[in-house]
Amino acid sequence: MKFKFILTLIASLGILSAKAQRPAADHEKVKGGELTIQPITHATLVLSYQGKNIYVDPTGGTDAFKGLAAPDMILITDIHGDHLDPKTIDAVNTAHAVLVVPQAVADKLPATTDKTKLTILKNGETINQIGFKITAIPMYNLPESPTAMHTKGRGNGYVLTIGDKTVYISGDTADISEMRALKGIDIAFVCMNLPYTMDVKTAASGVLAFKPKVIYPYHYRGQNVEEFKSLVNTGDKNIEVRLREWYPAAK
Ligand code: ZN
Repeated sequence: MKFKFILTLIASLGILSAKAQRPAADHEKVKGGELTIQPITHATLVLSYQGKNIYVDPTGGTDAFKGLAAPDMILITDIHGDHLDPKTIDAVNTAHAVLVVPQAVADKLPATTDKTKLTILKNGETINQIGFKITAIPMYNLPESPTAMHTKGRGNGYVLTIGDKTVYISGDTADISEMRALKGIDIAFVCMNLPYTMDVKTAASGVLAFKPKVIYPYHYRGQNVEEFKSLVNTGDKNIEVRLREWYPAAK
């Protein structure tokens, strides 16, 4: 009896510690059901809707996704290790997953990748995959330069239509005109991370230009997201800034 109790205790502690590695998911009412938003870490997140799971820039190996359903789609924004992690792609169960990537990422995927599941999307192109409309948005540094960390045309930000909601994932970018010109974004994930993307002031200015209903700062290691929130809400108090702990292991 006592032994069984200890086993139960160990099992529940195991579940707790697995969950403690990532923040609680957010649940959004969306036409046709619920959108679950699960931050994982840094640039990695999972979106779920009607039993379909979208992994964005999966990194961190299987541990990072413990307890979550396998991906039906994997979106990758760019070639750097915090976005493209072939080991994690190999490790998560991709049996049912289609991959949507820019050409530069396709060139770096392992040779074992099932090419029939791969869709290469260029900046500005739109496709429909597993019931979602996906448009690739440019992501690049300013001023534009061939030696920039993020050159224009290589990586993709993404705009997804999920039910009646529009979700924007910036990837690594400056506050480019293409982001500032976005319309009708319900939920946005915007990077703010020096020296290769934006500082919080620039990110806030970019966000105030396209005014998403909800903004998640992500990819913000080392930045003051409280300052970002205050800058955004000083400019527009109706934008909901969702601060989540994307770096739990660092605490
Ligand atoms: Zn990055």
